[in-house]
Amino acid sequence: MPERPTIPFTTPFHAPGEVKYVTESIASGQTSGDGPFTRRAVELLTPLVGGGTCLLTTSCTHALEMSALLLDLEPGDEVIVPSFTFVSSVNAFVLRGAVPVFVDVRPDTLNLDEARLEAAITPRTKAVVVVHYGGVGCEMDEITTIAARHGIAVVEDNAHGLGGSYKGRVLGSIGAMATQSFHATKNVSCGEGGAIVLNDPALVERAEIIREKGTNRSQFFRGMVDKYRWMDVGSSYLPSDILAAQLCAQLETFAAIQARRHEIWDTYHHELASWAVGQGVARPTVPEHCEHPAHVYYLLLPSLEDRAAFIAALAAQDIVAPFHYVPLHDSPVGARLGRTALGGCPVTDDVSSRLVRLPLFAGLDQGDVERVLEAVTAFRTAA
Ligand SMILES: *Cc1c(COP(=O)(O)O)cnc(C)c1O
Repeated sequence: MPERPTIPFTTPFHAPGEVKYVTESIASGQTSGDGPFTRRAVELLTPLVGGGTCLLTTSCTHALEMSALLLDLEPGDEVIVPSFTFVSSVNAFVLRGAVPVFVDVRPDTLNLDEARLEAAITPRTKAVVVVHYGGVGCEMDEITTIAARHGIAVVEDNAHGLGGSYKGRVLGSIGAMATQSFHATKNVSCGEGGAIVLNDPALVERAEIIREKGTNRSQFFRGMVDKYRWMDVGSSYLPSDILAAQLCAQLETFAAIQARRHEIWDTYHHELASWAVGQGVARPTVPEHCEHPAHVYYLLLPSLEDRAAFIAALAAQDIVAPFHYVPLHDSPVGARLGRTALGGCPVTDDVSSRLVRLPLFAGLDQGDVERVLEAVTAFRTAA
């Protein structure tokens, strides 16, 4: 039998220069947070997210926790979230005692349905968290207009969206704050890492304090105060400069990473078009006014049974095709601590039972893309 290694769903991309930078960082002796590589990573990241103040964090989860602290949430306050997302988009707010209010997603982009947003707002609502699924922008004009009318903050969980744009504005630049992920599964990674982007300058000073254990140590290092003191509640959200060193190399390679990811995404989309129509399978929808960063390539099979058969058929060809997200509104914690907006989350329930993702990572070579396409197009749905 010819050798046929398993095609993983994702594998971290190694940027040229990352070992050199990591070695330099360790050799420099300045391995704690906010060192020279952190400053350089921030310089590289800032234009990609539209110019807001960027603070590196240990994860997107932690950046979301910082956003929850910045919102001054009190127990019983409500935060509107999609049910179709990763747990961190919600957990961060629950940790502060807030009640997550789950709103359904649109059936086309799988983003928070802006038409259902206003009805979910109550006098206790403090914020709406939007997730640009697959880096396809939510309908931010409608969402920011509604949020402004009710005086609530918009937080962009932009874990998928680095490099994407909505009506010409880069994702991560639209909400009062945005969060980025540099987890190993994301387009740009340092294993575990993230950033908070502050688009409202009024939030910057407190964000620096919250990130530095509640102290004004950042101001002290800039010579703005003669001693640093405990100023606010906070924690330690800054990554080691060693991780920032790897991140620098990744960000320097961003254009090449993105070019390859787009090539794979476009190949899937083009080559699967007629098969998808024939099998009643839906491919991703990207509105005209959105540019996506090729973070996710997904298919919506006609049924849960078709999806199980599809995943098994690809597994038989040694190709890993996982699904996500398991809805949060009826999860054990979501149901106990949250509330579901009127009308429920029928779209979330439906798509989360039918969605499957194809392998997509910058190191995926053309031969493997062909293998995935062959396996997919050989598959027949039950209908
Ligand atoms: C990956 C992801 C997160 C969490 O990112 P970490 O950096 O692993 O904490 C949060 N939200 C969404 C939508 C994600 O995809």
